[in-house]
Amino acid sequence: LSQRIQNIDFPVFGRIAALARNKDVIRLDAGEPDFPAPALIKDAAVAAIAADYNQYAPVPGLEELRRGIAAKIQEREGMVFEPLSQITVCCGATEGLAAAFLAIVNPGDEVILLEPAYTVYTPDVLLCGGSPVYVKLSPPEFRIERHKLEAAVSPRTKAIIINSPHNPTGRIYSQEELSVIAEFCLRHNLIAITDEVYEELTYDGVKMERLWKIPGMEERTIIVSGFSKTFSVTGWRLGYVVAPVLLSRGVQLAHNYLTVGTAAPLQRAAVTASQMPADYYRTLAALLQQRRDILLDGLRKVGFECRCPQGGYFILADCSRFGWQDDWSLAQYLIEEIGVAAIPLSGFYKKYPADNPVFLRFAFCKREETIRTAVERLQRLK
Ligand code: PMP
Ligand code: GLN
Repeated sequence: LSQRIQNIDFPVFGRIAALARNKDVIRLDAGEPDFPAPALIKDAAVAAIAADYNQYAPVPGLEELRRGIAAKIQEREGMVFEPLSQITVCCGATEGLAAAFLAIVNPGDEVILLEPAYTVYTPDVLLCGGSPVYVKLSPPEFRIERHKLEAAVSPRTKAIIINSPHNPTGRIYSQEELSVIAEFCLRHNLIAITDEVYEELTYDGVKMERLWKIPGMEERTIIVSGFSKTFSVTGWRLGYVVAPVLLSRGVQLAHNYLTVGTAAPLQRAAVTASQMPADYYRTLAALLQQRRDILLDGLRKVGFECRCPQGGYFILADCSRFGWQDDWSLAQYLIEEIGVAAIPLSGFYKKYPADNPVFLRFAFCKREETIRTAVERLQRLK
């Protein structure tokens, strides 16, 4: 095997899924909805296949879809992009991230990752021959701090990646934190990749601020988002990258040779998705907020210490109360003895800090009944 492949490993999700498989386990590990996707979008996909829309789409994405994405972003965020030169439709945000890193990282370049870091960032950087440099966000706040960023930068630093709403903490970075990032990028001439896959899932009226909108950042920000979470279709593998023209050309080149494009009939259906009215987004966020509240209340009653997530799919639960030494043993006990699966936070670190409490991540993108059954089972931990 190549050195690059030997440098990476499979993420935590598959290992937890393997432990839970074929057991009577309520699955709050996976960030995937167990409720149906919108009928309108499913019907559009079925219709596209039936109408024989089954050959290659244009490699950077169906034009109508890229125009739809640009229109959606303009309408909801007031950000204006040229659809064909600035938007690339990818196989999930996952491939969009890989294409973005391939577009900008040279061997030997350093990329700053904030830990806990979503599991694909480190392997992406390593596969490009780059070096991840970690900045640890400290519990319980997990705030971005200027001095930690400054301590991580070097003449070889090329980029930083940030994710908000954040997986797994549920935080939405404040305008002040984004200003710190923007100043940092401008001072050190860095590119920012912003992973915004949970952008539409924000709760309690908290507004998600955009790094791209800070003066000077529009020419150095690569936005990665997608359809998985916004339309509850994680299995469709549809995402997109929005970037300044030069960087976007790099993303399109990488994407071209990685994939020759994403599933054509699903792109057709995604045109319908991109045209959903504002009410669709409000309803989805309200539904998820209600599920969050049920799980949050249940976890707290069992004795987990949880901050209320401002966005996304997950609650991060401090498990100190139960006296376990490490999160893997607790996660395994929950699966085998309690019948509930969750994700150990250490899966989001290269090396889990010894002074961090034991945390598990629970997903609430589930039917109410799923969450209530899980909470009922967790009572046995008390
Ligand atoms: N970024 C984050 C932070 C995620 O949580 C996920 C999926 N859970 C992705 C990217 C990848 O999303 P996609 O399904 O669009 O590949
Ligand atoms: N993004 C999903 C999560 O955070 C995992 C996707 C996967 O690799 N299965 O749960």
